[in-house]
Amino acid sequence: MGYKKKLIFDVLTIFPCMFSGPLTESIIKRAQEKKVIQINLHNLRDYTQDKHRLTDDYAYGGGAGMIMKPEPIFGGVKKILDERTKGKKNIKLSDIRIILMSPQGKQFNQKMAEGLKSARCLIFICGHYKGVDARVKTLITDEISIGEYVLTGGELPAMVVIDAVTRLIPKAVNRLESVRKDSYSGRLLDYPHYTRPEVFKNLKVPEVLLSGNHSRIKKWRKIEAVKNTFYNKPELLEKIRKSKEEKEILAGIKLAYKKEKKVEP
Ligand code: SAM
Repeated sequence: MGYKKKLIFDVLTIFPCMFSGPLTESIIKRAQEKKVIQINLHNLRDYTQDKHRLTDDYAYGGGAGMIMKPEPIFGGVKKILDERTKGKKNIKLSDIRIILMSPQGKQFNQKMAEGLKSARCLIFICGHYKGVDARVKTLITDEISIGEYVLTGGELPAMVVIDAVTRLIPKAVNRLESVRKDSYSGRLLDYPHYTRPEVFKNLKVPEVLLSGNHSRIKKWRKIEAVKNTFYNKPELLEKIRKSKEEKEILAGIKLAYKKEKKVEP
């Protein structure tokens, strides 16, 4: 699928300054310069209605910890939706995803990144403290977690998703072919990589990689990818349809593993 239109990331946050650095360097910076993506940071305080510009309040029912108020979040999302769906941009509502970053959400993975890449606009809501008022859930299309641990806020998780999605956009990276071979994009984990020097602290680059023999290199890489997957993510091997070559490689790895008198992972 071609990418004629840039992907817009709109982030609602109380800490917009957190985004400089991760989103202003490297591939993400260049993708913005090439106008493949656009990142807009919206300060939730701009959508408050009280004189103190409060974005959080005490929890009904008591208990420690503040809750992020619904009004600034609803106000911010409405303003962004109005801007994106009307006028010049004219993006269809169905091409916009409204994402709440939350440790309770669906666990983010490469497949989800691929899915989000097809949207025209991704709106991120970054929570803090005890989280956001539960009524925010009536507003969202997705609730995404980046892992089973709790961070102080949704900014780092939003940046993780923006980064993972951006590097899948063809014009954002110089060599999409390399991205396609990465772990979780292909069926197996990636194989090990080496660069110069040939010998470093007495550790040598495998001879086959210096041989110039492309079919030997290809075979070695396949073996190493199966090995990495077997040792690090054996469950992936259960899920994929293995070729005859892969089945043979796997049998060899398992045999070597048993000979070392280890228990199969
Ligand atoms: N009380 C919440 C709970 O137990 O589910 C945790 C709130 S957390 C301290 C504050 C905010 O950080 C959340 O609203 C969310 O936006 C963000 N956050 C924390 N951990 C996250 C994770 N693993 N994935 C995505 N967002 C996360």
